[in-house]
Amino acid sequence: MSLEPGRGAGGLPGRVTFLGCGTSVGVPMIGCDCAVCRSTDPRDRRLRPSIFVDVPGQARILVDTTPDLRQQALTYDIRQVDAILFTHGHADHILGLDEIRRYNHMQGGPIPCYADLDTWNTLRHVFSYAFDGVDRLGGGVPKIEAHDVTGPFTVRGVKVVPVPLWHGKMPMLGYRFGDFAYLTDCNRLGDDAWALVEGVDTLVIDALRDRPHTTHFTVDQALEVVARIGARRNYLTHMTHDLGYAATNARLPAGVELAYDGLVLDVRVDVE
Ligand SMILES: [Zn+2]
Ligand SMILES: [Zn+2]
Ligand SMILES: [Zn+2]
Repeated sequence: MSLEPGRGAGGLPGRVTFLGCGTSVGVPMIGCDCAVCRSTDPRDRRLRPSIFVDVPGQARILVDTTPDLRQQALTYDIRQVDAILFTHGHADHILGLDEIRRYNHMQGGPIPCYADLDTWNTLRHVFSYAFDGVDRLGGGVPKIEAHDVTGPFTVRGVKVVPVPLWHGKMPMLGYRFGDFAYLTDCNRLGDDAWALVEGVDTLVIDALRDRPHTTHFTVDQALEVVARIGARRNYLTHMTHDLGYAATNARLPAGVELAYDGLVLDVRVDVE
């Protein structure tokens, strides 16, 4: 029996919060006086890219640990993290890993973390102090329970489907949860990816800016992906200061919007 994603017998409501939707340097950028960096619209203030998927009574899942993680967790009052999914090993997606020490303390143990092998290699190198087994007197280290992502898996019963993406020459992962898919930091979908995101109701896709870039979709390229996948609701993320919220949103087609920090989406996840 095949069940429509997110609407099967095991489907549960989930809430996705954008903890950040900015590019690696954030918006505003340090030392920039442009209209977007100086905008008073809160939707023009973008922390580094991350989402939080809350499935009440089931699982709370953080995607990536940005350099802004502490601020994001305080702003959105995130009190529990049952698992962390990493998309790839770039600094804007991993450098907040040390902040999980608070969750280790509150939850009394390591946090299950999921990443592909390349990302684990980067994490083990960048955060060597968390993996070397040395007992550091008085100094806590983030406690991590490492899981290799090689295919679909579950977090406390919530089904997670990794989606192969290309970020320039770097392979990396998007993630699908039921009727929702999060595809950040990419400029091409892997050959297998299209089938894996088929039928999603809500799509989040990288759209860095209008000018071409070697590792990120432009707005126009993202819109081509949006049209091909055909989700009902589509949100662009990982934007630079080139894309002011109000002006950019006004020129997007129906069903497509810029994400903004604090945006909450109601989704439907698959559970086992
Ligand atoms: Zn990034
Ligand atoms: Zn600027
Ligand atoms: Zn990246």
